[in-house]
Amino acid sequence: MFRLYAVFMMLLAACTLSSAEVDAIPPTATTVRVIQSTLVPTLERQLQPINTITPAPTTPLNPGCEATAGLPTAQHTVRATVDYELHRVEVEQAIFYINRTDQPLTTLVLDIEPNRVPNAFTLNSVLPTETVISYELTGRRLTLDLATPIEPECGLDVTLNYSLRVPEIQRGLSGFTGYFGYSIRQMNLGHWLAMVAVHGIDDWVTHDAIPIGEQTVSEIADWDVTLTVTNAPPNMVVAAPGTLRAEDGGVWRIVHTNARDFTLSLSPFYEVYEQETANGVTVQLYAFGENVVGSATGSQQALTAAAQAMEMYSDLFGAYPYDRFVVIQGDFPDGMEFSDVVFVSDRWFEINTGTAESYLTFITVHETSHQWWYARVGNDQALVPWLDEALATYSELVYYEEFEPDLVDWWWNFRVNQYVGDRFSGNNVDATVYQFASIRDYINAVYLRGAIMLEDLRAVLGTEDFFDWLRRYAEAGSGRIVTPDDFWGLLTPEQIELVAPIRVEYFGTP
Ligand SMILES: [Zn+2]
Repeated sequence: MFRLYAVFMMLLAACTLSSAEVDAIPPTATTVRVIQSTLVPTLERQLQPINTITPAPTTPLNPGCEATAGLPTAQHTVRATVDYELHRVEVEQAIFYINRTDQPLTTLVLDIEPNRVPNAFTLNSVLPTETVISYELTGRRLTLDLATPIEPECGLDVTLNYSLRVPEIQRGLSGFTGYFGYSIRQMNLGHWLAMVAVHGIDDWVTHDAIPIGEQTVSEIADWDVTLTVTNAPPNMVVAAPGTLRAEDGGVWRIVHTNARDFTLSLSPFYEVYEQETANGVTVQLYAFGENVVGSATGSQQALTAAAQAMEMYSDLFGAYPYDRFVVIQGDFPDGMEFSDVVFVSDRWFEINTGTAESYLTFITVHETSHQWWYARVGNDQALVPWLDEALATYSELVYYEEFEPDLVDWWWNFRVNQYVGDRFSGNNVDATVYQFASIRDYINAVYLRGAIMLEDLRAVLGTEDFFDWLRRYAEAGSGRIVTPDDFWGLLTPEQIELVAPIRVEYFGTP
């Protein structure tokens, strides 16, 4: 029996956005608390006759704990049915979670990203009710209260059933989250499934949703998704990560392992362009045709840039873990990174210049680099966004140095210096996403001044030691959520001394 308890307001805390901007994407404001099973009060218990037969042993204390060695923290098995015309999705998601902390956990917290959009997410059930005695959903945070704590190294099975109404991609600030949304020619399912939150030292880490930057922090997980697409035009194309197998009757089976998220996109209009890199990765672009502007063909240009970047970053920062890398032309602004999948805005194809002197090239390259600075090395994107965004922006420069050396000065001026000159007075590079009044201010401080800071670090350390450091950082941080200490901690004491003045110059907390 379900009982719906209090519904009350959650207020957006700790941010400095103007009210107009906050209004643009209000987080789902309600809290829903459901008690699934209630213990029988002692006084009402019926007395039982004493049984002289020794009861059969109950389940062992830590069921299945020995078998969890080597498994990822979370394994998701998903059955999803997409109604393409009605933009609805029904999801059954089984999650096997392993407690990798050193303490018993009495709750399990899931990150429900779709619930940041009003009316997009409806939770139908959390099973089994014997395991999850109650749950509470506030904004993107779903807290499951467990009947029995999960002991360290032990696992827990829960299954969620929920319905999604995929929103139409909006114009303006709200459009930036179009990775979960539909246009007349595509449906994007980014951050549509429940993710297990990361457990910090004391508590589960979830952050309030705001329209600036990203705020998710997620564990590496395995995903096994069976997708049924109904009510759709023929020739549906599924752009998805990992290994993809089309079965009969509009069914796709997609397996993506060792991944921070699971994202896909659907369209009957995609054309697929592909190119293999020298290190054996097939780079695929799912685009709306060739994207011809004047004499330029944007699709070929973006594909080439992605393949070059993929090859180069694999050499510089460590091998890419998958056979395929998917780039999707997205009907929403800018771009967005996911595991093995990135979106590059339709806008950059539309205003393409036909040369690398274009947003199309550097945004494609930027998103590709997030396969290392986000998907491989995870960080708290809300509180230390410079760890992924400054490195991704600096990776753009590295691409131009290698493939377009004549455009290096252009890149500095066009991408960076016109926004952050010597008289820059914005926030420090190490600001959180909650400290900015606009996306432009956020990009200037974290991405662009972050790139200048990395250039200064390279100047004092020397190019060879600098890239050696980044490579060791990518290896040490692989599959983890890192902190700035992990980054700086890889320098020698002498190097720490060398970079100290740079940290003072760019950081609020050096
Ligand atoms: Zn980025």
